[in-house]
Amino acid sequence: MTNQPSATPRHTPVTVIGLGPMGLALAETLWKHGHPTTVWNRSPERADNLVTKGVHRADTVAEAVSASPVTVVCLKDYETLHAVLAPAGDALRGRVVVNLGSGTPHEAHTVVGWAAERGVAYLDGAIMVPPPLVGHPGSVFLYSGSQDVFDEHRAILASLGDPRHLGSDPGLAVLYNAALLDLMYATTNGFLHAAALVGSAGVPAVDFAGLALDWFLPSVVSATLAAQAPRLDRGDYPGDMGTMEMNLNAIEHITRTCEEQGIHPGQPRLMKEMAEQAITEGYGAMNYLAVSEVFKKAPSASRPSSRQESQGFQESQGFQEG
Ligand code: NAP
Repeated sequence: MTNQPSATPRHTPVTVIGLGPMGLALAETLWKHGHPTTVWNRSPERADNLVTKGVHRADTVAEAVSASPVTVVCLKDYETLHAVLAPAGDALRGRVVVNLGSGTPHEAHTVVGWAAERGVAYLDGAIMVPPPLVGHPGSVFLYSGSQDVFDEHRAILASLGDPRHLGSDPGLAVLYNAALLDLMYATTNGFLHAAALVGSAGVPAVDFAGLALDWFLPSVVSATLAAQAPRLDRGDYPGDMGTMEMNLNAIEHITRTCEEQGIHPGQPRLMKEMAEQAITEGYGAMNYLAVSEVFKKAPSASRPSSRQESQGFQESQGFQEG
């Protein structure tokens, strides 16, 4: 066992439930920051390394949550959280649970009800960095729900990274998480697909990356997307510098080039479908960002119409006139 760095009586004991790659990083970071740390995992041997450092391994979930006022849960999903915490029973009453596993806003709301019934103070969260970046001051950790829990235990949360409280709606952290991952996967796929396209002529990814990213980040992301965000909020898509029709034409060229070069055309075909849908809905003379009006709605007409949707529709009619 090694001496725990900087541990003082001021450091709140913390329990970590779940020792996948992320839970291990959380537990080790909390321990390094001086918090007396207890862990529990379904496969107890995953704690072996932590135990050699001085972390306490609990035999049961009830013992684990009883060891600390605050329990950080980092399991595969919300279903696993319910299954793992259920046997803790009354040991959870009066304690704080911070969940950092990923899921959906509806699942986050469900845990809030579950926690309230058991007298548990609950904060939902999402981690926006991989395990090696846990504990770095700039690593973004999103939280939503109880502001009181967030404020009271901010020191614990700040030892893991940069804690951002998004609002009182407990579903916001996982909603942001899904949105940011959506951005990440779509952007990564965009780059990989583009690299495959130039790769069809023997261009190495390493040659393409510099040019592509130098072009994409300053001119597309900063100059266009960031600058256009206020217009996105207003639903204002002037087509004076280029229309959806023109962009559909460009996307068709991408699709046909993929077909000619023997590259998978699925991704540009999906973009083409979205642009065609936007034109069908009346956005043909507006700029490409009007495709966001297509993204805002599920494709089936089965969703109940909300006030927001009818507002969006009215606004979109306004754009056509403008
Ligand atoms: P993971 O594979 O998502 O989760 C592993 C953990 O879940 C282990 O503790 C595992 O226990 C437990 N588990 C799975 N099924 C279980 C069951 N039926 N009963 C009890 N425990 C069960 O690995 P992770 O990478 O540590 O991720 C944990 C959470 O952090 C996820 O929600 C993930 O989305 C999020 N996250 C991960 C990363 C990352 O880069 N890894 C980044 C951001 C967010 P055993 O060890 O016994 O299998």
